[in-house]
Amino acid sequence: MKKLTTQVAIIGAGPSGLLLGQLLARQGIENIIIERVSSEYVLGRIRAGILEQGFVELVRRAGVNKRMDREGEVHDGFLIWANDKLTRIDLKNLTGGKSVLCYGQTEITRDLMEARSESGLLTCYESSELELHDITASKPYLSFEHAGEKYELLCDYIAGCDGFHGVSRTSIPENLRKEHERVYPFGWLGLLADTPPVNEELIYCKTQRGFALASRRSATRSRYYIQCSLEDRVEQWSDTAFWEELKQRLPPDAADKLVTGPSIEKSIAPLRSFVCEPMQYGNLFLVGDAAHIVPPTGAKGLNLAASDVATLSTIFERVYNEGDKQCTGQYSAIALRRVWHGERFSWWMSNMLHRFDTAVDNALAPQTFERFMHSELDFYLNSDAGKRVMAQQYVGLPYESLRVSS
Ligand SMILES: Cc1cc2nc3c(=O)[nH]c(=O)nc-3n(C[C@H](O)[C@H](O)[C@H](O)COP(=O)(O)OP(=O)(O)OC[C@H]3O[C@@H](n4cnc5c(N)ncnc54)[C@H](O)[C@@H]3O)c2cc1C
Repeated sequence: MKKLTTQVAIIGAGPSGLLLGQLLARQGIENIIIERVSSEYVLGRIRAGILEQGFVELVRRAGVNKRMDREGEVHDGFLIWANDKLTRIDLKNLTGGKSVLCYGQTEITRDLMEARSESGLLTCYESSELELHDITASKPYLSFEHAGEKYELLCDYIAGCDGFHGVSRTSIPENLRKEHERVYPFGWLGLLADTPPVNEELIYCKTQRGFALASRRSATRSRYYIQCSLEDRVEQWSDTAFWEELKQRLPPDAADKLVTGPSIEKSIAPLRSFVCEPMQYGNLFLVGDAAHIVPPTGAKGLNLAASDVATLSTIFERVYNEGDKQCTGQYSAIALRRVWHGERFSWWMSNMLHRFDTAVDNALAPQTFERFMHSELDFYLNSDAGKRVMAQQYVGLPYESLRVSS
């Protein structure tokens, strides 16, 4: 058995774990990351692409912003195609100058991985059998296997950044956690291609055939999604079938401009809203997807992970630089307030923009629900106040500060 010691043990080298590790390292706080899969596998996951300003500032604070600032695209607005009408949500004008940055999760992760390896910080990729011990004691520890050896990692705090399927959340006793969940009756089939995107800004499409999103990663790389059945398998969707279906869901001008090509990646993601409360137990803190999932419609998943990281890194800075251990008790309440806003927004956008064929709610037939949502979308898109509400949430609500401990 090999023994390791650190101040903060981080489980998971996704964007949450890597960003937290980097911010802590900048403050001289020791940390070790334990990851289940290889770094190549982590980079192979194609996920988010829209970053709120708060996230961008955090990446700058972490000092890994060079490529993001050079290659990221500032988006001052996005479009909604619904009922044969294209409406622009002018983020900049509606929010007093705010915008979002289009820069892929893969790229952020790659930048964070490079910064971590340059600084010589330890990350144990391809570790297995990870378990959390003595979470409520003053010195908790992790046990795991890595490169054929058994390890124990003793620490002050554990950051559970291990995503929805990780072990951190389920290490909180069942009677002490409450889980809220809604699984949507459809999924998103996503396709990534090295083709010029149809538009400079994202287009969200609500159509009779179902939802579609025309997104992008750069001037030469497109990311498109179409709503699909939960029964669909990705093998059933040839690239040609995907492009044909997408074309029918885009506004005519965009459909005319669509450039097709071979997919680099194609996958189906189920849509889910999920929150675990509290996000803290003893010296364990849940961060990002380990504690909450949103449907990707509002582009909030990665951004909520970032606001958790912002809160937790500030807490650890206060603990180690000012000796204020009491402030750790503030984490769950602060993180959850913002999480619930993101959850509500993502649920609302999903309800308004998708086609519902099956039961959505015990009280409403799908067709009735759709009529309500049609009217809701119509109201918001035809009102300046409505568009402002949408824009404010899309660019992201401000991060909450810690209170001074009494
Ligand atoms: C298909 C898909 C599409 C998405 N699209 C968008 C989008 O368009 N916009 C948006 O904002 N968000 C999107 N999201 C959400 C966004 O990608 C996540 O919110 C983000 O990845 C959260 O980062 P994380 O680090 O918290 O979790 P993850 O990225 O899930 O990272 C968790 C890490 O922990 C590791 N791990 C798990 N278990 C263990 C263990 N036992 N031991 C050690 N390590 C472990 C995993 O291997 C993984 O590397 C999408 C998510 C998915 C799944």
